[in-house]
Amino acid sequence: MKFPKEVNRYCPTCRKHTKHSVSKYKASKERALNHGRRRVNRKKKGYGSFPKEIFKKNAKINKKTVPIFECSDCGKKHYGKSYRVKKFELQQV
Ligand SMILES: [Zn+2]
Repeated sequence: MKFPKEVNRYCPTCRKHTKHSVSKYKASKERALNHGRRRVNRKKKGYGSFPKEIFKKNAKINKKTVPIFECSDCGKKHYGKSYRVKKFELQQV
């Protein structure tokens, strides 16, 4: 899928249509001591089953890609509609 690098879009903060630059959402690195990780570590120390079942059946092939729109006026970022596509390309129009 091809997506424009710049779009004219409504900004809720400015309350008008402004130019937005588009980028892809990227998951940040997981912190080593977040709550879920601490819980898993505690569970793995003791007796009992593995804390989380390992997922094996993948029904969906493609992961969701979320475009992020950044307003050129106020600099606020807005999330767009996500797409399940194999390829997500940003290109100049
Ligand atoms: Zn704005």
